[in-house]
Amino acid sequence: MSRSASRHAIIIGGGASGVLLAYQLLHHPTRDFHVTLIEQRPDIGRGLAYHSGNPEHLLNVRVANMSALPDEPDHFWRWLTSRAADAPLCPDPYCFVPRRIYGDYVASLLRPLMSDGGASPRLSIVQGTCVGVSEGETDVVAMLDDGRCHIGDIIVLATGHDTRSSSPGYLDPWVSPSSAGIAADDAVLILGSGLTMVDYVLSLLTDGHRGPIIAMSRRGLLAKAHRRAEPMRIDEAEVPFGVGLSQLLRWFRGRVEAHVADGGDWRGVVDGIRPYTQRLWRELPPISKRRFLEHARAWWDVHRHRMAPEVEARIAHALYAGHLTLVAGKIIGIQPNEAGAWVRYRRRGQREILDLQVGAIVDCTGIVKDPRATTNPAVRSLFDQGLARVDPLCIGIETSADCAIVNRDGVPSRRLFAVGPLTRAAFWEIIAIPDIRTQCAALAAQLATKDEARPFEHIGARPP
Ligand SMILES: Cc1cc2nc3c(=O)[nH]c(=O)nc-3n(C[C@H](O)[C@H](O)[C@H](O)COP(=O)(O)OP(=O)(O)OC[C@H]3O[C@@H](n4cnc5c(N)ncnc54)[C@H](O)[C@@H]3O)c2cc1C
Repeated sequence: MSRSASRHAIIIGGGASGVLLAYQLLHHPTRDFHVTLIEQRPDIGRGLAYHSGNPEHLLNVRVANMSALPDEPDHFWRWLTSRAADAPLCPDPYCFVPRRIYGDYVASLLRPLMSDGGASPRLSIVQGTCVGVSEGETDVVAMLDDGRCHIGDIIVLATGHDTRSSSPGYLDPWVSPSSAGIAADDAVLILGSGLTMVDYVLSLLTDGHRGPIIAMSRRGLLAKAHRRAEPMRIDEAEVPFGVGLSQLLRWFRGRVEAHVADGGDWRGVVDGIRPYTQRLWRELPPISKRRFLEHARAWWDVHRHRMAPEVEARIAHALYAGHLTLVAGKIIGIQPNEAGAWVRYRRRGQREILDLQVGAIVDCTGIVKDPRATTNPAVRSLFDQGLARVDPLCIGIETSADCAIVNRDGVPSRRLFAVGPLTRAAFWEIIAIPDIRTQCAALAAQLATKDEARPFEHIGARPP
């Protein structure tokens, strides 16, 4: 088969999404791509999820589902077993390994394409922060914080989760408790009760923290744990696409009840619906999407994004021992003092205001959910130029079904694309690897075959 002309793709963000996309582009059978991968961290493949050095921070998806390649489902398992001598042994693909190891795996995907100097003729890995993106008629430019500019045919944003810088007085959940200087006997208040809170509690326990830990969120919901439940087979024809939220939830609850009555596990239904969640989201009426985000999202999240059984055991132990307390409540006020902070709060459904003296407050409410509040300079530059717009629900930037970034006037770009969590407005279920790997493979295939009126042909970098 003859190969088509080469294209230069610039990927901004070298976390898992950026690396998976680079891999797909560089392995495309009919089109040569030159890929420039721009990452601000010192190493690629880790991003926010897989940089944690704490061995107790485990994957929250079992090994069997974490292959980076959609057409080789056991790729990660084979990689793991091939290095069994130096990795913690995993008895079978249904286990959960430390996330750091997964970061090693993702980084290893591009290693064969790099020469000794860390570069190859087709792959350039650039360390730096992209602070601006521009789109011309025939090319695109990514500007770095040190003034370098990279010129290419297409840019794909894979900037991932937008972490909020913590408000003054709050500790950053991505900094370990020991580095943050939390004293072992301090009472620690954690805002949020999601998986970031779980990670932070594990870090406190690893550090030998003795003081009380209080995790507070509006509903006080804790993520459920995984069990060895197979996803049930749900026929696409029976899924009520396009109906309103109430009808959809009624159908879903009915499915769960029937499955449980048959001796099954509710997890089987939650996982069984997964192949259809992107279509369900796409076809959900806008008003239902809004209602889902307001009322059902927190419930869905704790059932869908589950923790490893080992993690559950540690958290359950801390809860039963009274070391960790989960509170459904709302902060009324925080008064910093010499010992930390005096916190006033109200439990959910109660009027009485309660007080609490804590030594530290950690903000685990985590990821910026409103893209207008982004602190990412690359994303901000798109908004400022009108090259991107926020979706009507304010959960992401607007992208077309084929990942093209939609501009202020509603026109999808021919040269600017996005993958991963940034595209959640269009796909919703696009946070975890099983969905991201499929998205990256599909985008690579599309970029390889699409023939523009003006061919993509630019490879180049301008010095500062
Ligand atoms: C704590 C945590 C645990 C998770 N665990 C799992 C799990 O076990 N299994 C699973 O399937 N999913 C998990 N996820 C979901 C996760 O979203 C995906 O697995 C995946 O890591 C997303 O990768 P990403 O590259 O899109 O985003 P990120 O991991 O956020 O990476 C984005 C990268 O882009 C870089 N970047 C951003 N802006 C710029 C810029 N302007 N210039 C240069 N570089 C930039 C960042 O430095 C970062 O490295 C987890 C998520 C989190 C937050």
